[in-house]
Amino acid sequence: MKYQQQVVVAGAGPTGLLNALGLAQQGLDVTVVERASEPQDAPRAILYHWSTLDGLERLGLFEDATQAGFLKQDYAHYVRDTGETINYGLQALEGRVTHPYNLHLGQGALAKIILSHLEQFPNARVLWGHKITGVTQDDAAVTVTADHGGNRVELRAQWLIGADGASSAVRQALDLPFEGFTWPERFVAANVRFPDDRPGWAQTTFYVDEVLGAIIVKIDNSGPHGLWRYTYMEDAVLPEEGVVDRLPRFLEQIFGPEVAAGTTLDAIAPYRMHQRSAPTYRVGRVLLAGDAAHATNPSGGFGLTMGLFDSYVLNEALGAVISGQADDSVLDAYADLRRTAFITKASPRATANKQLIFHSSDPVRRDKDLEVFRRMSVDPELAAEVLYFTKTLETPSLMRV
Ligand SMILES: Cc1cc2nc3c(=O)[nH]c(=O)nc-3n(C[C@H](O)[C@H](O)[C@H](O)COP(=O)(O)OP(=O)(O)OC[C@H]3O[C@@H](n4cnc5c(N)ncnc54)[C@H](O)[C@@H]3O)c2cc1C
Repeated sequence: MKYQQQVVVAGAGPTGLLNALGLAQQGLDVTVVERASEPQDAPRAILYHWSTLDGLERLGLFEDATQAGFLKQDYAHYVRDTGETINYGLQALEGRVTHPYNLHLGQGALAKIILSHLEQFPNARVLWGHKITGVTQDDAAVTVTADHGGNRVELRAQWLIGADGASSAVRQALDLPFEGFTWPERFVAANVRFPDDRPGWAQTTFYVDEVLGAIIVKIDNSGPHGLWRYTYMEDAVLPEEGVVDRLPRFLEQIFGPEVAAGTTLDAIAPYRMHQRSAPTYRVGRVLLAGDAAHATNPSGGFGLTMGLFDSYVLNEALGAVISGQADDSVLDAYADLRRTAFITKASPRATANKQLIFHSSDPVRRDKDLEVFRRMSVDPELAAEVLYFTKTLETPSLMRV
């Protein structure tokens, strides 16, 4: 079987689907190639920073996304050792930015919304159950080979976007290393329903503790038994299959035995965490985006934030190159700017967040690191400045220069 299209996108995760949607909206013929047989719904991203919402709006997704999820402003750091709670919020951004709130929505639900928009375009399609096995290119085109139920499928296109996640087959086919390191710990993401609505808890709480450090985030606010994400860390040498058995002990210590006993588990998944990046996000006619290009530990929610910002700028630039409105040097600019944003900003900030939440054994250092949040809670100017950080992860449109 052979397919011909202008762009192939590897991976129907949020990054791949967003790129495909942006290209389809520009009238380009695009095929997404996905190894899974249906959209993925493992517990992963849940929080999208305020700064990413303009892009969702430009792509026509904002309304559906906010209806499926919810918008919120509050944050807290809770320090187990001292009992201190530091509350702050995105109210500080009101009057300064278009969307002074974050969106909370499961990544799987977001991907399904993007997919439903993509499906409106006759010039776009998703090939489910197609696992990419190889990529070659020449001056004129890229050839992608995939395995579909034991059959070899070949796709030829002018351009390929590799958005096939951290273990990207596209990146490997390009012989690019994934430079950086993997953390020794395991993150466990559990979607749980508490017996109450967590009165007094911020909807995003960083639970600061050397042993019980956690990130506790509300996923849906549809009622008193709404869904929360409880993300904690354990030693990766512990057997993965024991994760569910070990969960109640963590819940008991943080929320008390009564709450733990009444808590039900909707979904759970263990993850290894990385700080890694490809050395370049462009090789000839192949571009990398999202986790295929860069992977970070999720403390602070910068992983998909970077994938969203990659997508917003890439689909527009690639569309302009294909339609002759820009020369392909704009794709080099994409590659350089996105990699720099990851290496110099997203990755170090995620590492610092992980350090504070999960490795806070030194009370002097912890106190110093928490000081900025204490000041944010009383100084809206400072809060706005600090909360503006996620906007600096964005690459503005390359078409406006
Ligand atoms: C616990 C946890 C919590 C997180 N929370 C947040 C958060 O709140 N905010 C945030 O911004 N980020 C968060 N992240 C990070 C976020 O989940 C990732 O950055 C995001 O999944 C990246 O999306 P992607 O589309 O680039 O890659 P993926 O979601 O990994 O999608 C890649 C797709 O490619 C497909 N694929 C893989 N190999 C092949 C192949 N050979 N052929 C064809 N298809 C293939 C896969 O099946 C998959 O569908 C979190 C991550 C974790 C683990």
